[in-house]
Amino acid sequence: MRTEADHILPKGVSGLNLDEFPRVTLSHGPTPLEPMPRLSEHFGGPNIFIKRDDCTGLGTGGNKTRKLEFLVGEALSENADILVTQGAVQSNHVRQTAAAACRMGLDCHGLLERRVPGVGKDYETTGNVFLDHMFGATLEFREAGLDMNAEALAVVEKLSAEGRRPYFIPGGGSNATGALGYAVCAQELMAQSEERKMNIDWIVMGTGSTGTQAGLVAGLFAMDADIPVMGISVRQKRDVQIKAVHGLVEKTSAKIGAGSIPVAKVIVDDGYVGDGYGIPAQSTLEAVMMAARMEGILLDPVYSGKGFAGLVGMVRDGFFKAGDNVVFLHTGGSAALFAYQDVLSGHFSQG
Ligand SMILES: *Cc1c(COP(=O)(O)O)cnc(C)c1O
Repeated sequence: MRTEADHILPKGVSGLNLDEFPRVTLSHGPTPLEPMPRLSEHFGGPNIFIKRDDCTGLGTGGNKTRKLEFLVGEALSENADILVTQGAVQSNHVRQTAAAACRMGLDCHGLLERRVPGVGKDYETTGNVFLDHMFGATLEFREAGLDMNAEALAVVEKLSAEGRRPYFIPGGGSNATGALGYAVCAQELMAQSEERKMNIDWIVMGTGSTGTQAGLVAGLFAMDADIPVMGISVRQKRDVQIKAVHGLVEKTSAKIGAGSIPVAKVIVDDGYVGDGYGIPAQSTLEAVMMAARMEGILLDPVYSGKGFAGLVGMVRDGFFKAGDNVVFLHTGGSAALFAYQDVLSGHFSQG
């Protein structure tokens, strides 16, 4: 029974209990929260930290690992024998799903959309695609512009008819089950900030299929933690992305019993997309090179590079106060660097 005291006490980390959801362990977690001292000094503004979700440990790591802990947990609870999912050709999500399948003794089938125009001939064999093959996933390619979740669901039906027990994971693992993984990350960040007696003033991250931002926002809200999360869009216009993220925020919040969350909690900047998904802008390439050369951190040219370009742009625009603690969520993706060697090596001579 709820007493009056329950309403007065801040909920904190204990305000969010995810024990009821099936889950498998795929990640090293908690991932490190590290300072970026050279970069912070370079800008002379906020204190910049990096949450190392590139180091989740599964098949070169990345943000999909956390989502897959709950998705694969649910798949096993339904006695599935094959994971079916989809993504763009250089999908980090398909690669991590393929690795998770290996770890759990399942098969994996991935549909890859040729979403990025004008790529070279190696794009479909190197980077993440190479790793998909390493993990024994079966792959099918699709031309751009199809409803890829519908394509994957058609494959699910076909496999079921053949007597397989497929489990469907939507693109990016972004449904309310997958987003629970980022409620866990929100919990980890709160625990790390309490441990260090360090307030977190902002979280900045790249946002695509929405599950990461939605899980963070819902998780923070459930803990009464009023930390704004800035999603740097890698693909869609601001309004479209806000609507999509908020839709999943509400579903995730309902799942964890946290109640309705105002749309104002979903903050997105679309100023770093450049020419579109998978096409690095100048600011993306600059950000990737800056993180590599100032901090020894590998970002990627599709997601975390755009996210980090957003952080750099915000610092330069004077968005943060001096002394603010800003956490960049490194969502991974460095395997895709190898599919973008040509465009990146053009920047190797810059200081
Ligand atoms: C998928 C992905 C993202 C975006 O996360 P969403 O949950 O899809 O919004 C960011 N960074 C990397 C490296 C990713 O692979």
